[in-house]
Amino acid sequence: MNKPEFILIHCSDTKEGADFSAKDIDAWHRARGFRCIGYHYVVRLDGTYERGRQDLEEGAHCVQESMNRRSVAICYIGGQSKDGKYADTRTPEQKRTIITLIRTLRGRYGNLPVLGHRDVKGVAKACPCFDAAKEYANL
Ligand SMILES: [Zn+2]
Repeated sequence: MNKPEFILIHCSDTKEGADFSAKDIDAWHRARGFRCIGYHYVVRLDGTYERGRQDLEEGAHCVQESMNRRSVAICYIGGQSKDGKYADTRTPEQKRTIITLIRTLRGRYGNLPVLGHRDVKGVAKACPCFDAAKEYANL
């Protein structure tokens, strides 16, 4: 990827309050046959973020619309309520860090639009379980 065109927001599709690391996701994605973690950034419950792939490395998070080659992916840990339903489980710390990452990426690559995974044409998923395009439109 020369320059990303979008920032794509994902959730890890894991239960509220359960923390996982980029290393955990790396193991899950390798188990699915990916070379390594498919996302570029992982935002943990306490708001710390961890690196996955390098920004300009092709991702493995959304084949539709060639988004793996066109976007930088931020994944927050969560996306399911404790009883396993789709839910926006972002902690205040995660919300703050996602905004910081978006601003940092825009500083690097220009004013990239933000999309949620579910906003990409052809995707039939709830991920990231909130309206990312709307929430970050006026950052
Ligand atoms: Zn997703």
